[in-house]
Amino acid sequence: MNKAQLKKIKNTILKKETLVFDKLNKSQKTQLFKFNESYKDFLNQSKTEKKAALQIVQMAKAEGFVDIETLLTKQSKQANKVYKIFQGRCVALAVLGKEPLLSGANIIASHIDSPRLDLKQNPIYEDLSMGLMKTHYYGGIRKYHWLALPLALHGTIITSDNKPIDITIGEDPDDPVFTVTDLLPHLAGKTQANKKISEVFQGEKLNLLSGSIPLGEEKEKDRIKLHLLNLLFEKYGVTEEDFISAEIEAVPASKARDIGFDRSLIGSYGQDDRICVYTSLMALLDRHDKYRQRTSIALFFDKEEIGSEGSSGAKSNFLEDLISDLLYINGQDTDNRTLRKTLINSSCLSADVNAAMDPDYKDVHEALNAAKLGFGICMTKFTGVAGKSGSNDATAEFVGKIRQIFNENKIVWQTGELGKIDQGGGGTVAKFLAKFGMNVLDCGPAILSMHSPFEISSKADVYMTYLGYKAFYEKNNS
Ligand code: MN
Ligand code: MN
Repeated sequence: MNKAQLKKIKNTILKKETLVFDKLNKSQKTQLFKFNESYKDFLNQSKTEKKAALQIVQMAKAEGFVDIETLLTKQSKQANKVYKIFQGRCVALAVLGKEPLLSGANIIASHIDSPRLDLKQNPIYEDLSMGLMKTHYYGGIRKYHWLALPLALHGTIITSDNKPIDITIGEDPDDPVFTVTDLLPHLAGKTQANKKISEVFQGEKLNLLSGSIPLGEEKEKDRIKLHLLNLLFEKYGVTEEDFISAEIEAVPASKARDIGFDRSLIGSYGQDDRICVYTSLMALLDRHDKYRQRTSIALFFDKEEIGSEGSSGAKSNFLEDLISDLLYINGQDTDNRTLRKTLINSSCLSADVNAAMDPDYKDVHEALNAAKLGFGICMTKFTGVAGKSGSNDATAEFVGKIRQIFNENKIVWQTGELGKIDQGGGGTVAKFLAKFGMNVLDCGPAILSMHSPFEISSKADVYMTYLGYKAFYEKNNS
């Protein structure tokens, strides 16, 4: 066999790994960087699930989407671009296709919640003449990531007369911020050096430093706490009891930033999973009208980081309710059988991040099957823990179909696995959609420092994920 023959054989049968930047021409690279500027803006405006939901609805409205609720009550049901928002925390956008909805929709499902520190319901106290607030962490965090960091507060307090008070403190450069203190290295040795990480960093020590000026006479008790509460009362009219009915989230106060001399990477809080939220949102909004055969749906769930529970999480009936509404405005039967068949006939990409191989922690991955930064959108056939347990495990047939769509549309893709066998693991919303009988595949970019306050993505992967989702919406026909 000569060299040319060998080369031909290799080209034919060996799988190729492609770095996205090797595949793009100059104009595509310009597009890529432009797309990522808007992505960073979206991240900065969407630091909580409610703010993300608001952004999504605003962007959809600007593109002519209408609230599906308004169509359910009116005689006229004329609209093919609709949105549905539930409890302000869970959103769906849909573009109705020319085919009846019963033949199924192309669905991309992501989540808009991210790990953070939530204020407890009785948060404010004082200790050593410092005002502090108790938190309870939400989602899987490495607790030490959240120490000695400027944090902003976002959320809503419902007052005793049922009035919502929205709070955002720490995002404006002139705002104060909050922080969780950490032990100095000089004194950490004896206390911490030989202990386990879980013993050293405890949830009950994640308390936010919030003030130090007293109110009232020296002989009074808890004067710092009183001062904090008084400031809140003067500014917002809220009392201590009002925190019982409040959701206040402490998140990193920093903005999304470019990383590296070549500005090819993005560092930001909340990229899991707002990276998939933004790319799937833009894929739906930018979907070309000539590919309107099948209905396209983008789902943005809450509560994924705590197991997709609650009425706004993927375990809820939100999707069934949405499909039922869509069938109704589409003039189709809304009986249980039609609803179920519509769901079974649908196809879904579960849009979530995977873990990219980290040069400093390669050993937690199995290199042949791990995703890498910059190699495009990542298909993850299965997730799960200890033998794929708790995983959707997509069918070969559906993976094949998506792979074909990606190849035919020049999407740079790779595959991933969440760590090597028995290293740990995790899950996504995939299985909660698969229970309806539809095909589901986990598909999204791989990132570094996942669940940290500064998660890292590759701009090339962000852009390729957008193009991949768009190809799915436009080209998946069954
Ligand atoms: Mn996620
Ligand atoms: Mn996550």
